[in-house]
Amino acid sequence: MTPDNTQDAKNQVLHTCQSMQSAELVLGSSGNASYRIESTDQVAITPSSVDYSCMSSEDVMIIDMEGNIVEGDRNPSIEHPLHLAIYKARSDVKAVVHTHCVYASALAVLQEPLPPIVDEFVIRLGGQVEVAEYGMPGSEKLAENVVKALGPRNAVFLANHGALCCGPTLDIALHNALLLERVAHIYLLASAAAGGKKHLKTIPPDAIETQAQMFELMKRMKKR
Ligand SMILES: [Zn+2]
Repeated sequence: MTPDNTQDAKNQVLHTCQSMQSAELVLGSSGNASYRIESTDQVAITPSSVDYSCMSSEDVMIIDMEGNIVEGDRNPSIEHPLHLAIYKARSDVKAVVHTHCVYASALAVLQEPLPPIVDEFVIRLGGQVEVAEYGMPGSEKLAENVVKALGPRNAVFLANHGALCCGPTLDIALHNALLLERVAHIYLLASAAAGGKKHLKTIPPDAIETQAQMFELMKRMKKR
């Protein structure tokens, strides 16, 4: 990994954090993003407690896969064990975005999975979004619960906390986070309008199966 590539990873994390803030997926310094630098197996990750509106690329930390600081003068995000656990469990994942967005967090509070109710959902996220059991922020238990509930998919809820999305690039992980928030909003609106979630219909099972196959294919092509 050349210094240029490390700097590029830092720039991408900064840009993603700023996009998360402008899209109101996070507030202040909450949430976090990371990018796995493939050639060195190091990770560029949001620093702890730095407001995104005044964060620079120099604030972005570089850590190794055990969480040791390689580069940077701050502390890495408290959620770095969560990010590292996902990278260790999923070789296809190169980017992780953790948000506290409103509608996805509402489902995380309800501890309610989000079924595939719109077409783009399964192709991008892999299927129904499950809820990881509660764990204290920053704990190994939370990391373990999230890896288990995430499975092979690209999105998961963290009970009473927020959401997490991943992908082969930060752009795709961020897109997945925006999509998850949008579908969570649609789900809550449609549930309320229908008088309860039992009246909602998912997309047909054969379409879900076809779209899940497309998700796996695109994942192998590093486009999901
Ligand atoms: Zn969080």
